Amino acid sequence: MTINDNINLIKNNIFGDVLLVAVSKTQSIPVMQEAYEAGIRDFGENKVQELLDKYESFPDVRWHFIGNLQKNKVKYLVDKVYLIHSLSSVGLLKEIEKQYSKRGSKAKVLIEVNIGREDTKGGVFLEDIPNFIEEVEACEYVKVLGLMAIIPPGDEVSCTYYFKEMKKLWDSLKGNNYKNITMKYLSMGMSGDYKIALSQGSNIIRIGQGIFGKRNR
Ligand SMILES: *Cc1c(COP(=O)(O)O)cnc(C)c1O
Repeated sequence: MTINDNINLIKNNIFGDVLLVAVSKTQSIPVMQEAYEAGIRDFGENKVQELLDKYESFPDVRWHFIGNLQKNKVKYLVDKVYLIHSLSSVGLLKEIEKQYSKRGSKAKVLIEVNIGREDTKGGVFLEDIPNFIEEVEACEYVKVLGLMAIIPPGDEVSCTYYFKEMKKLWDSLKGNNYKNITMKYLSMGMSGDYKIALSQGSNIIRIGQGIFGKRNR
């Protein structure tokens, strides 16, 4: 299977308005070029430096930042990324507000939800969402366009459960009229579980190994 085959296979499993983000972390420019030639225009990276190193090679793609974002690196992403998927704390929110305000630019972000309550993962807990929303409403330079989750590893029943919980939260927030918040995107599903995610209403899937093959890190 080539990268082109892999992408076509995934596209055949996508119906309706779903965005496929090719997670290109650790992949070289020539390998990414293959994905580009197969039609990919959305790349996901989880390290700021790596994204910056690759940035100039693809002038007409949208970059998605999907990793743990350190506050001191936010400034490097301003005007470079289409969407930050990993807004995971109030401290990070405030730093994004600060750095984007300096440039008079609006950040587009997703709130990362720690739906499985895992210590090893970042993200906002369900019970902290109301307070988090208040903080977002107080911003001027941050636009929340939806939610993102990395669910705990598990079987189909467990994956379905967490994806459903995310969809419930997304739907409930969608019904409200918050300042700076539009529930456009629900980013969930990776190589191993994207079909389940789509069946539960995801509209952004983030696929790395399913496109590029097995990764060592
Ligand atoms: C690496 C990564 C992915 C892609 O994982 P695969 O198993 O390679 O599809 C998706 N989302 C995040 C946040 C990641 O770090």
